[in-house]
Amino acid sequence: MSLSIPISKYLRSLAQFEKKGVACPYCGNIIITKDGSYFACPFCEMHSNEVQVSKQRDDIKSLLVSKNKFISSNAWDDAAKAVDQMLLLDPSPQMIFASAIFYESFSNHCWHDVDYSIGGYMEQNSINREKSWVLKSKSRTLLYRDIKICGDEIKTGKETDIAFIKFLAEMKVSKFAQAKDTLGIIMGSSTLSRANDYACMSYYSQINDQKNAIKYIDSISTTDLSAFYYLAKLLVKNRRNADACKILFRFVEKASMPKATELLFKLKSVGEK
Ligand SMILES: [Zn+2]
Repeated sequence: MSLSIPISKYLRSLAQFEKKGVACPYCGNIIITKDGSYFACPFCEMHSNEVQVSKQRDDIKSLLVSKNKFISSNAWDDAAKAVDQMLLLDPSPQMIFASAIFYESFSNHCWHDVDYSIGGYMEQNSINREKSWVLKSKSRTLLYRDIKICGDEIKTGKETDIAFIKFLAEMKVSKFAQAKDTLGIIMGSSTLSRANDYACMSYYSQINDQKNAIKYIDSISTTDLSAFYYLAKLLVKNRRNADACKILFRFVEKASMPKATELLFKLKSVGEK
């Protein structure tokens, strides 16, 4: 039996999100909220709160601004230099994860940067494709580094919030069995209850447990725009590609999230065939 997903209810809810001017301390993107409360940044999915935002170092803040300016002017190589510099200044698990997401986004950009007008002379296109693979591999190396660092920190028993980052990194490199174990650690911790719902939303969407996925999407969509990406994924699983596109179009108008842009790109290319 297919799941009942009332699309108009979610579109109304999505419309209520607006830019509130809080920049994520790890990727510098504006966190879009409904009423000022939020858990995770839609771009990098790292969680922060107003205290962490207010305590951000000035050198990191200005590098984030430069990085985003470089991206808007299509100077991705310069943006990468700013990201590498940030990682040297702050090699925290959060910054490593956000950098991995940047390299994923840079890789996607190169992959789609194909000039069909070149015709028979495709050398530039093949250079872009190769560069895309190198960047994707850099992103994965950072994710594996993060999993190792977070795992070591969890063993010390000092830090519990770090399990959320380890979980997201494991999901990104498709280590789902490990991610399930890490989800157990997150569920056992009472310090970050919002992380429980967010991680469950991500996990149940991935394993296609639709009943549980929609339960956590409903919970997270009250504060976090990212929930609508997971909703779109669920709609695709229910063969409702047109509805998934409607959600994703509104989503990408408000926030940038590399995997949401990729999903929309795939749906559009399927629709055009
Ligand atoms: Zn972010």
